[in-house]
Amino acid sequence: MGHTNETTLAHGGNQQGYQEKHTGAVNPPIYVSSTYHQQQLNEFGSYDYSRSGNPTRDQLEEAIAILENGSSGFAFSSGMAAISSAFMLLKAGDHIVITKDVYGGTFRFVTQLLTQFSIEHTFVDMTNPAEVEKAIQPNTRVIYMETPANPLLQITDIRAVVQLAKKFSCLTYLDNTFMTPLHQQPLDLGVDIVLHSATKFLSGHSDIVAGLAVTNNKELASKLKFVQNTYGAILGAKDCYQLLQGMKTLEPRFSKSVSSAIRLADFFNSHDEIEHVYYPGLDHHPGASIHSEQSTSPGAVLSFEVKDHVDAKRFVEQLTIPVFAVSLGAVESILSHPATMSHAAMPAQEREARGISERLFRLSVGIENVEDLIEDFKNALTVKAGVL
Ligand SMILES: *Cc1c(COP(=O)(O)O)cnc(C)c1O
Repeated sequence: MGHTNETTLAHGGNQQGYQEKHTGAVNPPIYVSSTYHQQQLNEFGSYDYSRSGNPTRDQLEEAIAILENGSSGFAFSSGMAAISSAFMLLKAGDHIVITKDVYGGTFRFVTQLLTQFSIEHTFVDMTNPAEVEKAIQPNTRVIYMETPANPLLQITDIRAVVQLAKKFSCLTYLDNTFMTPLHQQPLDLGVDIVLHSATKFLSGHSDIVAGLAVTNNKELASKLKFVQNTYGAILGAKDCYQLLQGMKTLEPRFSKSVSSAIRLADFFNSHDEIEHVYYPGLDHHPGASIHSEQSTSPGAVLSFEVKDHVDAKRFVEQLTIPVFAVSLGAVESILSHPATMSHAAMPAQEREARGISERLFRLSVGIENVEDLIEDFKNALTVKAGVL
């Protein structure tokens, strides 16, 4: 019997409610054991070594599989470990079509590491399925999506890309970090592998670094299992436990953050000192209608550009609530400055061409009181250059 994700999450991924079978403990034990005693010479139990399998990790992997409507989940030591492990299903000579608006770490992995193994790639504007089709080659094995993408919240039409992938016999991977399985379920739309930086909304407290991969394809699951065990970038049992605890409150955290993000997007959108707001919940946002057909909310991340005359440095200094930092998806609001943070390595001209100016900020909305947040931004935006 399937429950909604909201209920499944509250019970740590166990649809019946988690109960440890020896004691009835409602929280899963943390199995801090690298090895397991084997009862017989010729017959090993279900666990032999914790890189290959750990009961606490199993609980987490089952949880994410249920949440994404997949058959198998895999937990990795970071989002990048999950993403790079999924790329390890490829071999020399294969080709990837990938969104140009991809997460910086994925960009680095594809451009600097995969190329060393003769796995090539083409970056495309994935908001345009025609460009995706043009980039597909006979050796294209994977089409890689991220939607909404970073930091301008560009939207990819998941169904259209999946259709192309099927036509040309490619696999599709999708980074679902921004929406979480609560508000976007790519496997249901035909995606083959869903990837998460669980460091973000899933764990939700800026405390751990973790990654997850999910599929509902048996063959891909056994390949991912092989890579997970062979490459070995597993998530440790204690972090698995901590992630499961964080996930229990994903629904109330995320729902609150989303409704506050909607309020804040309207606030910024009508504010005189703001040039532009990027948020799939705003009608003017390119892809807003596509997003609403594949997701159940606009999410909790938005970006905005302050006007020319706003002193960006002072603006940041005046804010008292958001953490000014990289990362996103936490109980505390996190304000980032892509030009000096996530996209610092990109030449200024290239950055500007992509719409990532020095005046652009990304806000991951937390669970603070939304009126407090609006007040804080209102105050910081009234402090203009030269006034102080
Ligand atoms: C943070 C992030 C990653 C990388 O995850 P880590 O846990 O930092 O390795 C990948 N994709 C997106 C969209 C992210 O925000």
